[in-house]
Amino acid sequence: MKVLVVGGGGREHALCWALAKSPRLTKLWCAPGNAGIADSAQCVAIADSDIDGLVTFARENQVDLVVVGPEAPLVAGLVDALDAVGIKSFGCSKAAAQLEGSKGFMKDMVAKFGVPSAAYGRFTKPEDARAFVEKHGAPIVVKTDGLAAGKGVTICQTVDEAFAAIDECMLDGKFGAAGAELVIEEFMTGEEASFFAICDGENVIPLVAAQDHKAVGEGDTGPNTGGMGAYSPAPVFTKSVEAKVMEQIIVPTVKGMADEGHPFKGVLFAGLMIDNAGNPKLIEYNIRFGDPECQVLMTRLKSDVLDILDGAATGTLDRVKPEWHDETAMIVVMAAKGYPGSYQKGTEIKNVADADAMDKVKVLHAGTKMDGDKLTATGGRVLGVTARGSSVTDAQKRAYAAVDAINWPDGFCRRDIGWRAVAREQG
Ligand code: ATP
Repeated sequence: MKVLVVGGGGREHALCWALAKSPRLTKLWCAPGNAGIADSAQCVAIADSDIDGLVTFARENQVDLVVVGPEAPLVAGLVDALDAVGIKSFGCSKAAAQLEGSKGFMKDMVAKFGVPSAAYGRFTKPEDARAFVEKHGAPIVVKTDGLAAGKGVTICQTVDEAFAAIDECMLDGKFGAAGAELVIEEFMTGEEASFFAICDGENVIPLVAAQDHKAVGEGDTGPNTGGMGAYSPAPVFTKSVEAKVMEQIIVPTVKGMADEGHPFKGVLFAGLMIDNAGNPKLIEYNIRFGDPECQVLMTRLKSDVLDILDGAATGTLDRVKPEWHDETAMIVVMAAKGYPGSYQKGTEIKNVADADAMDKVKVLHAGTKMDGDKLTATGGRVLGVTARGSSVTDAQKRAYAAVDAINWPDGFCRRDIGWRAVAREQG
């Protein structure tokens, strides 16, 4: 089978690395890819936003399956454009992508389907938004309706903070069109986890859960990033929590989206809040694998990933049953110093092969390129050092040993990925 993966980050490296192991694979391309992906796939210089370029490439090369990594091409309608020319893809339609692309759409849908989630209101006028905040009080959460690169959510501890957040979005236009409409919702408490399910429009199969660390600083402090590390399984996500999530959240969503005429195909990524009694509520949906969660999922996956992705694309998921390594997987993200603020590009990274050769370790690339025979950093998040271990503590030990083998004076990482789970293990 000839496969084209769209994207060029750590998530896509993990997908290419897993796909390359499939006995069914005959050819693998990645657009645009990166220096690490080039080991598993042929990289082609087409941006993930270039819908026409991707469709043309897929047609000319008789690609059997296009696997879409990031959300932007899904929201822009890549899957619809591929469907129109009869090319199979793993990913959802533009209409279904609104589950991530519009928080208001997502909230209306899940309310209709009876999914447990925070109480909310949708607003296009600042005076209505203020009245809602006055009525409900703080803490309260103000969110832009549209995509704002993870920055459109403000947790407000006071009513005044909420008023300020409303003004920034609706009067100052801080997030442009994405903030012209707001969702304001109840503040939920509990422990967060991410859960992934694969859907073919009708059937849905559970994958596994992960927990990530968004903040740049140790102890989960400082500004938020795209994600500084993750691990799977998530200890908070017991079998009983999983059963509730499937029954109360995932299955009603997949059925409801089909009933609405927007069947969901691809990966449904649920951001969840789990309370002390083990009851889950939905925070948000994403319509693609998380980055860096995908890297730990692919590290744990024992089955052929192509069977799963192709099963979703062809409506045959009822025949697929993924198997997992029992071990824990952890990823530690290495980023350029200064990230998520400004940082230098083009700095040299050495000894990655030494780390990669360590037992149960895989170094996945995010922002890298080859400059002659030198590996250089091209982005904020640059490498994902992934390790498997018999426990979170063991996986953490292996991951940091590999991090320490890499020589990159201009990079940094958090030294405490998995701290909550490690503390649980150590009792
Ligand atoms: P990201 O892209 O970072 O996933 P996003 O912009 O899609 O973020 P959400 O996932 O909806 O936004 O919210 C970001 C974070 O804000 C959540 O991970 C959670 O920590 C917090 N959060 C969001 N909604 C609530 C809520 N109702 N109650 C408590 N915390 C919340």
